[in-house]
Amino acid sequence: MLKLYNTFSRKIEDFKPINPPHVGIYTCGPTVYREVHIGNFRTYLMADFLRRMLEYNGFKVTHIKNITDVGHMRQVGQGHHAQNIDPIIKEAMDQGKTPLEIAQYYTSLFLEDEKKLNILKANVYPKATEHINEMIEMIKLLLKKEIAYESDGNIYFDVKKFKDYGMLSGNTLDKMDNLLEAVRISVETDKKDSADFALWKKAEKDRLMKWDSPWGSGFPGWHIECSAMSIKYLGKTFDIHTGGEDLIFPHHEDEIAQSEGASGKKFVNYWLHGGYLLVDGEKMSRSKGNVYTISEIEKRVMPGGRQGFDALAFRYLTMMTHYKSKMNFTFEALEGAQTALNRLKETMVAWEKPRIGCAEYEQRFLDAINNDLNMPEALSIVWELVRSDYPTSAKAESLFKFDKVLGLDLAKNQKSKIKNQKLEIPEKVTKLIKERDKFRRQKNFDMADKLRNKIKEIGYDVEDKGNKSVVKKV
Ligand SMILES: [Zn+2]
Repeated sequence: MLKLYNTFSRKIEDFKPINPPHVGIYTCGPTVYREVHIGNFRTYLMADFLRRMLEYNGFKVTHIKNITDVGHMRQVGQGHHAQNIDPIIKEAMDQGKTPLEIAQYYTSLFLEDEKKLNILKANVYPKATEHINEMIEMIKLLLKKEIAYESDGNIYFDVKKFKDYGMLSGNTLDKMDNLLEAVRISVETDKKDSADFALWKKAEKDRLMKWDSPWGSGFPGWHIECSAMSIKYLGKTFDIHTGGEDLIFPHHEDEIAQSEGASGKKFVNYWLHGGYLLVDGEKMSRSKGNVYTISEIEKRVMPGGRQGFDALAFRYLTMMTHYKSKMNFTFEALEGAQTALNRLKETMVAWEKPRIGCAEYEQRFLDAINNDLNMPEALSIVWELVRSDYPTSAKAESLFKFDKVLGLDLAKNQKSKIKNQKLEIPEKVTKLIKERDKFRRQKNFDMADKLRNKIKEIGYDVEDKGNKSVVKKV
């Protein structure tokens, strides 16, 4: 049985899809105003392992990952919004480009990085800017149901009208009052309740990104895009929603409120959240300069002289920690992952062609991944298999199967290495080839053929390609 930890119930649950063998997954994607960092990629890798694991089990997955290309914050910092200058718009203004150009540029970088990490392409990457109408329709429905209200061109979700508010994060309204009081969060003055959140915001004068709506010119709040787009592509109730644990509150809590408020149905059956990625034991932050991107780790020069890492070494590294746990990234650990990955690939080069796999290890691997995606366990089974006494043809067969989940390009790598591999030719054979070449030049083909047979007896075959002799092992 396949088991997953569900943030909503705070329990490990048996996974039961709504419409087997189909499974719908929605992953909160990046906000595209700069390069995506490795902490975010850790979360996308979790979603990728999840999807591959489901496909390994025979499910047919539809994976949706949104691209947040709408700025959800104010363009100009004013009063209590001073720290909330919208990053997409800010980047556009700094670079003298349009917000859409900025978004397109960083979207393409993001997709390239995903490719390098062997993250399978989502079936759809819906862009927020292309789904403004769907968001407006959902807001209209919430207004009609009186779960939302308008105030001077802004639309807010009325959290008091949604009784289950706080079920995912534990931030229920009674606790929230104290929480908001305690941290004195800046409160928009036109809200009924400090916990209410914006569905639509009125545009400032001269704002770069804005759209017409029944409530005047404005732009959507952050959370509404994920509700509108996930429902559009996966239906009102779907199987799995993933994201980083930093998104549990308020983003996912608000997604549930909006979606269930609008549809009257349960939104998501399983919520999966990836743990934080720390760098050298500390939280990543721009001011500390420890926010790394994939292109940076590819170029990183190490004190020992190593010139850069494969993106796949980072993929390997993320498997060494369970997705729910905090992961501590260090370059030393990455170096260890790179060495392990190289060793795995080098070991496999000498292996025979895959034949019949090792049933025992295949069962153990399946049990590990089906147990809430236990990749560290799966990885240790891989190495146990590599070191086992099974014939290499059996190890190869099983490892190529496992690689459908691991995504380390093991098969591809072995094939290309075999092609480039230099054949060790015994001196005896080299000598005979030289002799044979002499007879060929003299057009003494009888002798040439005799020598070829002699070479064959030793276990090698000679092929004539023009003036050259090409040797192969029989
Ligand atoms: Zn989202």
